Amino acid sequence: MYWQKEMEVIGRRALEDLQLKKLKQTVSKACKHIPFYKEAFSKLNLKPKDITALKDIRKLPFTTREDLRLHYPFGMLAVGKDEVVRLHTSSGTTGKPKAIFFSKKDVDRAAELIARCLIMTGVKKDDVLQNMMTYGLFTGALVMHYGAEKVGVLVIPAGPGNTKRQISLMQDFHTTTLHITPSYALYLASVMTKEGLDPQKDFSLRRAYMGSEPYSEETRKKIEQFFHIDVYNSYGLSEMNGPGVAFECTEKNGMHLWEDNFIMEIIDPDTGEKVPDGKKGELVLTTLCREAMPIIRYRTRDITMIMPGRCRCGRTHRRISRIFGRTDDMFIVKGVNIFPQQIERVLMGIKAVAQNYQIVLESYDHMTVRVEISKELFDGKVDHLVNLQTEITGKLRGEILVKPKVELLEPGTLPVSEGKLTRVIDKRTL
Ligand code: ADP
Ligand code: ZN
Repeated sequence: MYWQKEMEVIGRRALEDLQLKKLKQTVSKACKHIPFYKEAFSKLNLKPKDITALKDIRKLPFTTREDLRLHYPFGMLAVGKDEVVRLHTSSGTTGKPKAIFFSKKDVDRAAELIARCLIMTGVKKDDVLQNMMTYGLFTGALVMHYGAEKVGVLVIPAGPGNTKRQISLMQDFHTTTLHITPSYALYLASVMTKEGLDPQKDFSLRRAYMGSEPYSEETRKKIEQFFHIDVYNSYGLSEMNGPGVAFECTEKNGMHLWEDNFIMEIIDPDTGEKVPDGKKGELVLTTLCREAMPIIRYRTRDITMIMPGRCRCGRTHRRISRIFGRTDDMFIVKGVNIFPQQIERVLMGIKAVAQNYQIVLESYDHMTVRVEISKELFDGKVDHLVNLQTEITGKLRGEILVKPKVELLEPGTLPVSEGKLTRVIDKRTL
């Protein structure tokens, strides 16, 4: 099933022609209306007419989140303020906010992209979507909301938190679809277990859209098995509309990135050079349709790769893999580069591990991994715990090449999150 079939299965040649046409328009518009780009182009001695092929994108300057912050609040706006109908800011996971503006058409286009994503995963008008992302300045909830309404499903604007009320809403209105962060999904699972609820018998759930923070395939499996649903990975960032940038189809093997709306590049974050398909690097995105705030070569800091080959679903827009982490999430212990996701992957693959964990960087040579383990294991048998601790330590060491100290905790000890959670506590910089 398709929302905009013609565009979703468009031939690669036609898609690239369209991208080039829109890229030229975007560049001219940005240079004409945004002093930041005008200056950046003149520094490089570059004119919009120098863009004659798609590969010329590599001549263009990058835009960083720092650039957006420096030009806060109105500096990156390409239209008059009277054209703007909505403001969002980023969630500020990393530092001060950035202002993102939408024109009426931008709001509508973002909703169209979500509609494509929902239909792609089999949603129908009689589905009920419980939106557990934060409403407000963040893009996560509202952009999904508008897209789901466009499709015609019933949207429950629950927002995150108040877990008991979430559960009643899910039961009373027969929620079929969740929009949720992985940390909240894990928490919701722990509350349902505590309440003695059976996710299969007591609910009508079929699927969840999960994104807004990196998570591993192991976490997806854990959540799918617990709720008896399909979990689809959903990627987006406020600077590029929010959700709906890239989304999994029913193949659940990489996320189609809507290339008629964005040009993607994968680069080496240190050199800025292009990385071949199938190799990891930083995702760089250029908007092709945005009216209020076109952005050229935005450094997302998200690490992923382009998945080679065509998807079996028939869509021609290329896929990116699960996000491996953010360049700014990486930390170094004993001289080894480590991403929190490597640790998460190991932990979530161990059955005895419950939902929550925390990484504490004690010094440049030592780290502690604090793990909540399932209730049954707190049976008082010390040898069980010691064996488990040895198993976790060994598996972590195999993955990250550094031996962490592993602390086992009772469920409910660590802080929980209704949105994005800070899992790494860096004592070296506190
Ligand atoms: P902030 O950068 O302040 O967190 P956003 O709220 O716009 O701003 O969050 C966007 C970021 O969230 C992305 O750049 C990415 O790092 C992360 N993210 C979003 N969706 C996913 C996903 N499916 N997998 C991994 N990370 C994701
Ligand atoms: Zn597909």
